[in-house]
Amino acid sequence: MSLPPAAASFAPSYRAARRLFMDASAAAGLTLQTFAHPLPGAEGEALAMDVARAGGFDATALLVISSACHGVEGHCGSGVQHALLSDAAFMAEARAAGVALLFVHALNPHGFSHGRRVTHEGVDLNRNFLDFTGSAALPANPGYDALALQLVPPTWPPTPENEAALAAYAQAHGERGLQQAITGGQYRHPQGLFYGGHAPTWSRLAIERVLRQHAGSVQRLGWIDLHTGLGPCGHGERIFAARPDNATLARARAWWGADGGTVTALHDGSSSAASQISGMLWQAAYSQCPQAEFTGIALEYGTVPLAQALLALRHDHWCAAQPRVDAAQREAARQAMRTAFYVDTEDWKQQIVQQGRAAARLAVSGLSGQAGLAGG
Ligand SMILES: [Zn+2]
Repeated sequence: MSLPPAAASFAPSYRAARRLFMDASAAAGLTLQTFAHPLPGAEGEALAMDVARAGGFDATALLVISSACHGVEGHCGSGVQHALLSDAAFMAEARAAGVALLFVHALNPHGFSHGRRVTHEGVDLNRNFLDFTGSAALPANPGYDALALQLVPPTWPPTPENEAALAAYAQAHGERGLQQAITGGQYRHPQGLFYGGHAPTWSRLAIERVLRQHAGSVQRLGWIDLHTGLGPCGHGERIFAARPDNATLARARAWWGADGGTVTALHDGSSSAASQISGMLWQAAYSQCPQAEFTGIALEYGTVPLAQALLALRHDHWCAAQPRVDAAQREAARQAMRTAFYVDTEDWKQQIVQQGRAAARLAVSGLSGQAGLAGG
């Protein structure tokens, strides 16, 4: 049986992507579980985090494949999920290996629908998994504090002075230092970029519930969280997304290195991402499934140069902070976000799906304990 073209798995809107996901889940014989979001989408549609599970609750190993942690990046992630659900050979391979699959569609459905990276609370979900009870101080980010007004300035476009201040920071701390300050996460500027929030978001509470329900008793838990916006266009970087202890890192590198691929990591500076990020999503695997041996990556697909993605993000946040922005300006910002986090070409989609399939098969192989299965 031949597979449909990759482009058939991708959709131009959250509403259309959700429809594809529901149809593919049904076609694969899976039932859907829906966690309704309290707000409407950009087209007035209902929003939800949808979960489709393949494999019984007696499975000892489970692989989570999730999309749209960063809303707008869901165009890509949802496409990968649809391609996997529609791939009968992959689904059969997981079944034969005794590995349950959990497809979590739209971790952040509001951001997906509205073309934003953040949740409806204005929060970067991948910086939100911290203890907000007050028992521990939230991470400080003096670099962001220094740049907050340059990044989201009072007027748009940014002034030459705004840009000169950013350039001066890069001069003093290096481009990587600038990236760290901007993207590492901050907890003091609610209208700013990469804001981690002051409380658990709706999305965090929902995914924590999903994990408790579906992975609360598995022995081995794997997670591939699908992202876009960093690295060379079309390249899927496998970024280690778990506690950086030696055993877990070695396991991730054994699984996702089995095809000759590389697993990069934040803590040793080998990834395209900042070297220190606070409050990441994978924390939920440990808090909700402490019994499981956890192994995870973010599969981060390149789109456009980082500077372009950052400019789109700044414009998006500027618009969100302005009560009176005309429709044309808002639409321009929305288009720039779409372009920055989704490449709407056949070629790109083919590369995305092929690398998504490879990573998912390697994870199934690793979780089944049958190293080498995916190499065949
Ligand atoms: Zn992302």
